Amino acid sequence: MIVDGLPVDLLERELPRLPFIRERLPHAATAVSCFPSTTGPAYFPFLAGASPGRANVPGIRWFDRTVPSRSRFPHRGLRSYVGPDAARMRHDTAVRTILADHAWPASSPVNKDSPKRQERSRDVLWALAHVFHTWSHADRRTAWKLGRGLRKGRPIVFAVFPSVDELGHVYGVEHERVAAALRRIDAHLARKLDGFAGQLVLSADHGLTTTREHLDLRALVEERAGPTLAFPLIALRDPRAVVCESGNGMANVYLRGASGWRERPSAERARELARALAALEGVDSVAIRGEQPDTAELHTRDGRGEVGFAGGRLWQRGPVFGSSFADASPESALASSLGDERPDAAFALTSLLASERAGDLLVSATPGFDLRARREWPEHHASHGALHRAHTLVPVRSSALLPDPPLRTLDVFAHVLELAGVPLERFPDSDAYLLRERRWRPAVARAVRA
Ligand SMILES: [Zn+2]
Repeated sequence: MIVDGLPVDLLERELPRLPFIRERLPHAATAVSCFPSTTGPAYFPFLAGASPGRANVPGIRWFDRTVPSRSRFPHRGLRSYVGPDAARMRHDTAVRTILADHAWPASSPVNKDSPKRQERSRDVLWALAHVFHTWSHADRRTAWKLGRGLRKGRPIVFAVFPSVDELGHVYGVEHERVAAALRRIDAHLARKLDGFAGQLVLSADHGLTTTREHLDLRALVEERAGPTLAFPLIALRDPRAVVCESGNGMANVYLRGASGWRERPSAERARELARALAALEGVDSVAIRGEQPDTAELHTRDGRGEVGFAGGRLWQRGPVFGSSFADASPESALASSLGDERPDAAFALTSLLASERAGDLLVSATPGFDLRARREWPEHHASHGALHRAHTLVPVRSSALLPDPPLRTLDVFAHVLELAGVPLERFPDSDAYLLRERRWRPAVARAVRA
């Protein structure tokens, strides 16, 4: 069960009023989700044991400069899953999800490998909820489908409750309606799972913070890089830059290379823009590719840091990080950085930048700010997507003993498979499997293996 966008502190605060979760899922932990910490990409750890980079889905919107296209925009490599492109996600990734053989989707915003052809009634209901803020109906439908999913004969049922995220966006995270939605989910679960003797795991894809100020990132990039395109206005004739926001707290930013879009900008050009954006109030960090493969630079107002991967080991150094390490396994890199403002940054950035579709700049907003000033209805009062802990730390609750911390949501995937009796070997291309086998490296899953 995923409660989309459930922050760690909201669950903790409400726990006395959540009898089902408290008593039926007594084992608790905190896990690091992924970057970008947003609905869509952040479901791949749960559904495929895969990071957004390995899934090749680096945002809820992205731009693939390698796709052949006419020189004029809209470019064929542009994608936004907010809208009609949503159906294309299942063809955009080669990772195999548990929905293929092992899990029944009571509801899921990611439908890769889903046995359901299309969830038309879900789509209609969620679209209406977006207009009328009736997210409790969507949760009720998830609960109903969850009850039916238990009889579908698959070892796992996957269910997503959207209201906390959506009401958070509309009213702000602190609003009583958000807490009330969580209490209602607990009551739904108590009713639907009464008498269910199996195991239960609950987590979230990302955190959520209240937003008070909006930065117009598109305009800010345009001032510095020339004509800049952002959704939904994607027919700009000859842009120099493309901004693709995700969860409003994060954006992939792409710069045209000297000879055209198929070429990347020089490291110096990306760095110059990264420094300029990182200096702005409301921008928490800007990551760019490093000059060596599998490395990245992170720019903030407080200076810069570097992360990288080589020979099976991760490293991280520089004043922006609370911790420095060299020659660390992915597991010890997580443990060392767990208390950092940006936990697991070395793993998150190297894995995401393995995707050609990841931006030349990965911009994260400071809590309290988002990156979409205009063109958005309803106005968003909460955000997520960023690299910092307010967005990447998520709660985990389980009916069974959880693995030893520290955890990523990738480990929740392994935990669920183990409880369901599904060998992790069935997902040989997953980050979760490769981490366990100590063969992990940053890469995109290219082919689907049986
Ligand atoms: Zn959201």
